[in-house]
Amino acid sequence: MNPRLNNPLRWRLNPRLKRAALLLCLALVIAACAKAAYTGRSQLLLISEGQETQLGLQAAQDVKKTEKMSSDQLQTERVRRVGRRIAVAANKPEYKWEFNLIEKDTVNAFCLPGGKVFVYTGILELATSNDELAAIMGHEIAHALVRHGGERMSMALMAQFGGQAASMALGAGTSPAVAQVFSQAYGVGSQVGFLLPHSRSQESEADEVGMIIAAKAGYEPSGALTLWQKMDAYSTKKGQNPPAFLSTHPPSKERIKDIQAKMGAIRARYYQQQLLN
Ligand SMILES: [Zn+2]
Repeated sequence: MNPRLNNPLRWRLNPRLKRAALLLCLALVIAACAKAAYTGRSQLLLISEGQETQLGLQAAQDVKKTEKMSSDQLQTERVRRVGRRIAVAANKPEYKWEFNLIEKDTVNAFCLPGGKVFVYTGILELATSNDELAAIMGHEIAHALVRHGGERMSMALMAQFGGQAASMALGAGTSPAVAQVFSQAYGVGSQVGFLLPHSRSQESEADEVGMIIAAKAGYEPSGALTLWQKMDAYSTKKGQNPPAFLSTHPPSKERIKDIQAKMGAIRARYYQQQLLN
């Protein structure tokens, strides 16, 4: 006979324990529910921004060890200037902002949690104007500001550890489990800089928030439109092998239409406002 059935105390306590466990889970989930910056969308975040930032800073060190920084001072300074203006508009003084230009002929750019931004020289072939550069940097910075990586890590923790994920993540600092999902989400350790794709809704949100912060920084939002049009033309070039960035950021007709639809309101509210100030 199952000894648990012979233990009346256990049976009496079990419902209470279950209720307590349920309440604890509920409290953790409520604590983990946040509103996304700028859009107010509800998001599940099991990891604190501090944890994310710490991992982001470590990963930035790895990127710097493996990638060659550009020796083109003019373009490096251009990336820094545009980045600094966007950082002011983003108003995140707790971030350790840094804007790096990597010497590599590939269309890529990313921002690690905590504000470490990496732009590849290959993407400057497309982002020829500062408005276009601001569009790509704004988009990548938006992923970090809206904590898309943290959201993706939380989903991965839930998928791997189920009900235990919340307590593991919230109570464990940068535990091995959290560090592991970070590596998965950011591609660190395998192919540096080639992040896993975000969901379509996160991509669309990053387009919108990116345009907002670029416009607040004084860049014309139409830069996003011409940039993605160029990306579209680039990705459909005959015989061209589209770079990884374009497979995770498909420059589809829907994306361009979406940007076009949002552009007018963003220009009126943020860009023109900025010009008046
Ligand atoms: Zn993106």
